[in-house]
Amino acid sequence: MGSQDQGGNELDVVVIGAGFAGLYMLHSLRKAGFTVRVLEAGSGIGGTWYWNRYPGARCDVQSLEYSYGFDEDLEQEWEWTEKYATQPEILAYLEHVAERFDLHRDIQLDTLVTAATFDEGTNSWTVETEAGDRLTSRFVVAATGCLSSANVPDIPGRDSFEGPTYHTGRWPHEGVDFTGQRVAVIGTGSSAVQAIPIIAEQAAELTVFQRTATYAVPAHNEPLDPELVTEVKARYREVRAANRLAMAGFGALSTLQPGGTSALEVGEDERERLLEERWQTGGLGFLGAFPDTLLSPEANEVVAEFVRAKIRSIVKDPDVAELLCPKQVIGCKRLCVDTGYYETFNRPNVRLVDISTSGIEAITPTGVRANGTDHEVDVIVFATGFDAMTGALTRIRFEGAGGRTLADAWSEGPKTYLGIGVAGLPNLFLITGPGSPSVLTNMVTSIEQHVEWITDCLTYLRAGGHERIEADPAAVEQWVAHVNGIAGFTLFPTCNSWYLGANIPGKPRVFMPLPGLGPYVAQCDAVAANGYEGFLIDAHRHAGTPLAAEAKGAEAVS
Ligand code: NAP
Repeated sequence: MGSQDQGGNELDVVVIGAGFAGLYMLHSLRKAGFTVRVLEAGSGIGGTWYWNRYPGARCDVQSLEYSYGFDEDLEQEWEWTEKYATQPEILAYLEHVAERFDLHRDIQLDTLVTAATFDEGTNSWTVETEAGDRLTSRFVVAATGCLSSANVPDIPGRDSFEGPTYHTGRWPHEGVDFTGQRVAVIGTGSSAVQAIPIIAEQAAELTVFQRTATYAVPAHNEPLDPELVTEVKARYREVRAANRLAMAGFGALSTLQPGGTSALEVGEDERERLLEERWQTGGLGFLGAFPDTLLSPEANEVVAEFVRAKIRSIVKDPDVAELLCPKQVIGCKRLCVDTGYYETFNRPNVRLVDISTSGIEAITPTGVRANGTDHEVDVIVFATGFDAMTGALTRIRFEGAGGRTLADAWSEGPKTYLGIGVAGLPNLFLITGPGSPSVLTNMVTSIEQHVEWITDCLTYLRAGGHERIEADPAAVEQWVAHVNGIAGFTLFPTCNSWYLGANIPGKPRVFMPLPGLGPYVAQCDAVAANGYEGFLIDAHRHAGTPLAAEAKGAEAVS
């Protein structure tokens, strides 16, 4: 089953990326007896948590849930300090995982993968790096992350600015001192919502350029109560299992049950009470007060108006408050979780510039021009997000059977089977790819489910002496229709979100993730139980492929 890298070593799998997904993929495949090399573009492991070092960066899923569940000793020994972990703490956790499972020896850092070409004669991939290295392996797993390809918008004059510019997703490791500076922040998504309150405390002046107002609910972050930690650790198996069955891969620790009655059927006082209870609890569970918040525009408006009332009560200047009140459906763009975001606009050194009508006109050598006004600044922070879900994949030239590239296959938007396989690209597996619940969930829950499914699949192929697997084009078409059908029941397609690719000019507008983790996991399990139904196994066996080589490979990994 094995192929060779440049040094003549047998490799079964090349994994691209060493974040949460790549690290566990390496560990899981190694444990199953496969030879693996992980190629990572960064100079360190950690993926998202390596790159996103902007001020205030932390996870908005509780740390006790946003952590691996695959090893009981690991989850018992690691001590999270806060309800929501900071970026440095999560990175330290991943470093600990890498050390603990001796992962570093199979990870090659500073290695940007530029291309991968499938050879139908040998049923193997040749992976090329920016430095010109080539590795050959039977399988490739793309653990490239959903939010890793930074979007720095092509605003006229962007490169003419004479001061420093930063993107939140490519933050300098040494940090940035904004003391005494006039700072522009462009964007008001999750990254900006976390960074703005902290930058505002440091900067002389902060000007926030807002294209779309955002909904943010309070985090109510706090140090973790040791009693809670002990209690959760005692029932961790149950917590992990419940999260894998849940719609969004988290929530097992919540003290609030998902609401069962429509927002339109409960009385006004009860509605207010339920929403207030969730507001006081904090976090993404806010959207769980009613079952129809993301299904019915009228129910959604009830929840949205509750948040707008909160914004109006927090922000003192009524004009600024009104600008900060979002108009779109709540939850349609990803909900933000904040600490003091709206309050920051009460500070005398913070200004909000509404660019909803005409965007930013230009970046000049000394600032940002919007609505005909030049805003002079010393520093620009782009909190402008990512080419989500597809960007990190399509920038690698994956060339599959018959010269078909991933970019060709996805010219009308991403098409996958289960979010894992792509027709025409054999032996390539995506982790949390488009068409899977992925970004609508606790990423760690979804990553673990995919890693384990892929490991089982490769073990099955090895046991059967198979060397090639690919998504059946018919199964892909059905899956794409299934994802669109489910998304179409929801309010998700109603706004210009990155879930739809709407933040990237020219990107096909397709709702990319699949709502609902629990039912999806059951589908993946059924596919595996039915002999990987919907995948073609050795369907295009090349006439010249010697079975002996296959058998030899199988020995090498057994
Ligand atoms: P984002 O949600 O895509 O936000 C980007 C912001 O930049 C939006 O306000 C967007 O406006 C604005 N923008 C983009 N292009 C622009 C342009 N040309 N001119 C002016 N404004 C522009 O990106 P993000 O904040 O980095 O977050 C991305 C995702 O990462 C989140 O949704 C979340 O899933 C994840 N994340 C999670 C956490 C957490 O766990 N706490 C923290 C950060 C990020 P429009 O809305 O009008 O497009």
